[in-house]
Amino acid sequence: MSSPQVVIIGGGVAGLVCARHLHEQGVSSLILEASEAVGGRIRTDLVDGFSLDRGFQILLTAYPEARKLLDFEALNLRTYEPGSLIRYRGEFYPLVDPVRRPGKLLSTLTSPIATFADKLRLARLKIKSCRGPIQDIYSRPETSTLQRLRSEGFSEGFIDRFFRPFLGGVFLEPDLTTSTRKFDLVFRMFSSGNAAVPAKGMEAIPRQLASELPCEAIRLNARVKRVDPATNTVELVGGEKILASRVVMACTEGVVNELLDLQPEPSQSHGVTCLYFSSDAAPIDQPMLILNGEGSGPINNLCVPSLVAPETAPAGKALISVSCLGATEDGREESLRQEVLAQARDWFGNTVDQWRHLRTYTIPQALPKANPAFFNRGEFSKTRFDELYICGDHLETASLEGAMLSGRITAQNVIASLAS
Ligand SMILES: Cc1cc2nc3c(=O)[nH]c(=O)nc-3n(C[C@H](O)[C@H](O)[C@H](O)COP(=O)(O)OP(=O)(O)OC[C@H]3O[C@@H](n4cnc5c(N)ncnc54)[C@H](O)[C@@H]3O)c2cc1C
Repeated sequence: MSSPQVVIIGGGVAGLVCARHLHEQGVSSLILEASEAVGGRIRTDLVDGFSLDRGFQILLTAYPEARKLLDFEALNLRTYEPGSLIRYRGEFYPLVDPVRRPGKLLSTLTSPIATFADKLRLARLKIKSCRGPIQDIYSRPETSTLQRLRSEGFSEGFIDRFFRPFLGGVFLEPDLTTSTRKFDLVFRMFSSGNAAVPAKGMEAIPRQLASELPCEAIRLNARVKRVDPATNTVELVGGEKILASRVVMACTEGVVNELLDLQPEPSQSHGVTCLYFSSDAAPIDQPMLILNGEGSGPINNLCVPSLVAPETAPAGKALISVSCLGATEDGREESLRQEVLAQARDWFGNTVDQWRHLRTYTIPQALPKANPAFFNRGEFSKTRFDELYICGDHLETASLEGAMLSGRITAQNVIASLAS
């Protein structure tokens, strides 16, 4: 039986960040990761020369923890154009931040997506969202995002055409029941920074975090079977037992319950299905996100990652990413693909006949639900056992930033308890 100071179960972003803070403070830790690589929900596959993220994801460059932890330059970040193209009544209309792209002011002002009053409200909300310290977000009264948008006076038409597909793609739910705390964070981040991806795909982020840890601090293909909080023993599949002073469970809520032999809870996650296609020509010419503002059809959002990061596709090819909300049921993948292609044909014409399907990712547990009263900051990583901690995006803003913040706060709690 070996005994590192801290055992961390899970090598996703939260576990990696926790290990990194512990390492910086001279506390040794061992990450036990079930799969063959670190990254958890942030992985990238190389398929026929295309880099496919396992589900469309972006890094918001204004994320405060990410700014402190990541070397953006080494990630070779590529950025999306601020704003989006909205499909509405058979056309694409831009909705672009006129402060950042003054040349697009006229097209945005004349776009039928929103009333003039909605556009003014959007500008006002943007200014308001960037005011004050970011921590204030977590002390404001909480409600659902939909209620907030209504109380800001946005018209139902604008909410349906823009906010539902835009925020639906971020929250992975179109009803906008997600807490205003996540909305405030996300809206502020979009307003004050860029939506970016590393040139080699999102997995470069966890890889960079892992590269700063000693190699003996990570064990891959090490699936934990059980945790005994009474003795601080972690048992791996295969029977090996590891004893540690502190145990951090940096995995999803479902896995935490499973490892502690607690009652399984009904699914607390939102799912998504992401389809990738290749083609000889991109269906649009701008590195922008297309939102489905028509309220029908399977596509929520579509983009061409190779226009943002040419490295994601072989020379002369375009990579197309389509996100559909919800996880696709077994056996429905082929019919979803046909429905997506039919909708894309309606949008872009017969050129879609040239698209070649690369891969579909169905991710049932993509994001933890983050409805109001979900956040429990402060004591959030502690459990009733002094030596056992929980960590992960499900305790925070259900995002990359939330996972990083959770990793840091858990490390601080562990360090404080080791010192006491
Ligand atoms: C499709 C999709 C789109 C997203 N889009 C965005 C976005 O645009 N912007 C954003 O900020 N966030 C986005 N997110 C969310 C972000 O990816 C997550 O919040 C973050 O990666 C969660 O990290 P985590 O470490 O908390 O959990 P995870 O990444 O789930 O890590 C948990 C780790 O624990 C391991 N594990 C599980 N069971 C065991 C076991 N028994 N033993 C050992 N190890 C185990 C898993 O293999 C995994 O590596 C998206 C997520 C998905 C899936």
